[in-house]
Amino acid sequence: MTNKYIYFVANWKMFGNLKTLNSLNKVTSFVKKSKRDKFKIIYCPPATLLSPLNDILKKTSIKLGAQNSHESENYGAFTGQLNSKMLKAVGARYVILGHSENRQLGESDNLINKKINSSIKSGLKIIFCIGETLTQKRKKLTKKILSQQITQGLKKIKNKKNIIIAYEPVWSIGSGVIPKKNEIVENVNFIKDKIKGIKVLYGGSVNGKNINLLKKINNLDGFLIGGASQNSNNFIDIIKKTFN
Ligand code: PEP
Repeated sequence: MTNKYIYFVANWKMFGNLKTLNSLNKVTSFVKKSKRDKFKIIYCPPATLLSPLNDILKKTSIKLGAQNSHESENYGAFTGQLNSKMLKAVGARYVILGHSENRQLGESDNLINKKINSSIKSGLKIIFCIGETLTQKRKKLTKKILSQQITQGLKKIKNKKNIIIAYEPVWSIGSGVIPKKNEIVENVNFIKDKIKGIKVLYGGSVNGKNINLLKKINNLDGFLIGGASQNSNNFIDIIKKTFN
């Protein structure tokens, strides 16, 4: 990979507790020993772990991210919700928005657009997930879907400097199956042609085996990693192999 530095975003989804955080010692000491300008690591734990993880990461170069936020940056009567201001206040610098697991729960492009807008206002950087389902891929609708998700999700957002796109084919997430190399290259180029200068990550079943193939994709700026990021050894293995 030829980029300045490579992003490794760990999405812990609805996993992890205070005990799990102990295993991060391995990652923090690995990072201390590594060349700082090679990669950027962002940990996105469940909201219950944002504050304790912030304490652990404070003295490291690893950044903290949240997995979602409410569409309003203001406080209000929204039981169970967290706004971007609250996430920023506990140390989050990034937020994942538009993840397919939330789209499947009913998040529309319009709602995601509101979330992106309010998170930007709060000063968070956005990891904006887009990707096609298997049915859409089979119907050769991938580019149409990516285009729609980008146009609607980023509607009225002029300054995109705090947005990173994660291209995540829905059918690849958690399935162990990844697209062919040329499919990733083509779809990432398509995204980069639509938004000049945007960074694009690949997400979907990244692991210690397929990273040897994925790292050869030159137009990628990094990876969004779910399952394999929950084990520190696996996560470190992926990072090491990317640079070997
Ligand atoms: C994800 O949660 O965004 C993801 C890519 O998950 P996994 O790596 O487990 O497929």
